[in-house]
Amino acid sequence: MSKVPQIKLNNGELMPGFGLGTYKSVGGDGRQAIKDAIDLGYRQFDTAFFYENEDEVGQAIKEKIAEGVIKREDAFVVTKLWSHFHDPDKVEHACRLSLGNLGLDYIDLYLMHWPYGYEYEGDKIMFPTNANGEIRLSNVDYLDTWKAMENLVSLGLVKSIGVSNFNEKQIDRLLSAAKIKPVCNQIEYHPGLQQTQLVQHCVNKGIAVTGYSPLGCPDPSRDVPNFITNANVKAIGAKYNKSSAQVILRYLVESNVVPIPKSSKKHRLLENISIFDFQLDEEDHKALAALNINQRVFPMSHASKSQYYPF
Ligand code: NDP
Repeated sequence: MSKVPQIKLNNGELMPGFGLGTYKSVGGDGRQAIKDAIDLGYRQFDTAFFYENEDEVGQAIKEKIAEGVIKREDAFVVTKLWSHFHDPDKVEHACRLSLGNLGLDYIDLYLMHWPYGYEYEGDKIMFPTNANGEIRLSNVDYLDTWKAMENLVSLGLVKSIGVSNFNEKQIDRLLSAAKIKPVCNQIEYHPGLQQTQLVQHCVNKGIAVTGYSPLGCPDPSRDVPNFITNANVKAIGAKYNKSSAQVILRYLVESNVVPIPKSSKKHRLLENISIFDFQLDEEDHKALAALNINQRVFPMSHASKSQYYPF
């Protein structure tokens, strides 16, 4: 079984330095994937209210607890506050909804999914739109949302709180006002988008960085480069008898970024976590750094008019 290192967060809690992404893991295969992942040594599970699969994630974890494979404290469950819940009066409600979906007593890490908010039109209306079909952005300041998230820690509903998709300025503004520092910033990070300055900034401030879409989301329906089939990445893999995916995920780990690749296939789940038995050299780092083209998979352009849009 792979030995995943633990990352000590700025509040003293430990977070596994590798995790499972679950976006689009729905409809049964997600639940099976999480159970397989647990058997293979995964202990961090990344979900979100927005993914509409918190129930499957929670169910899989509870089944593995019932089987005696893990205890609740072995699993590190991450979920996220969606943007239509940014009003401080909605935050505890949103957190309790996620807890209910998961069927758990507490969340290990609760993240603000995006710094910008939407108007609230009901729990299930995740993209509220006006008559022209444009998304109704709200003016709620993420500092006010954050204060309400701090309260969740006092209530014992969540152990740690953090953010996602925050830029450097937003991190600094949050740090200057926060009673509880964010433990983590979850950002897009893969060979095509290497946000090294933002990562260094977070590390300097004691904030762990998780990298989402770490493989660059190699989805044929999206117009994004495929790093799995990239000849340079393959050549590096050949040196170590590792696959392209393993090279990329190892590169994140060696760049202070915790990868959370998603897969619903057991052989890939094993492949992806088997990266803690080799090390890339300086030449590999240079070759992988050269793949950066600052191209996002998730630009979320619909929110670009918000004063809190991060990109
Ligand atoms: P990933 O970069 O993890 O890519 C997932 C895709 O890669 C799937 O299609 C998967 O297919 C395929 N894949 C997985 N392993 C391999 C492999 N070894 N070789 C070839 N293909 C592979 O993209 P995601 O966007 O899913 O990002 C990971 C996670 O990050 C999400 O699931 C989610 O939890 C989180 N996230 C967070 C966001 C945020 O705003 N905070 C935004 C987006 C994602 P298959 O399942 O068939 O193996």
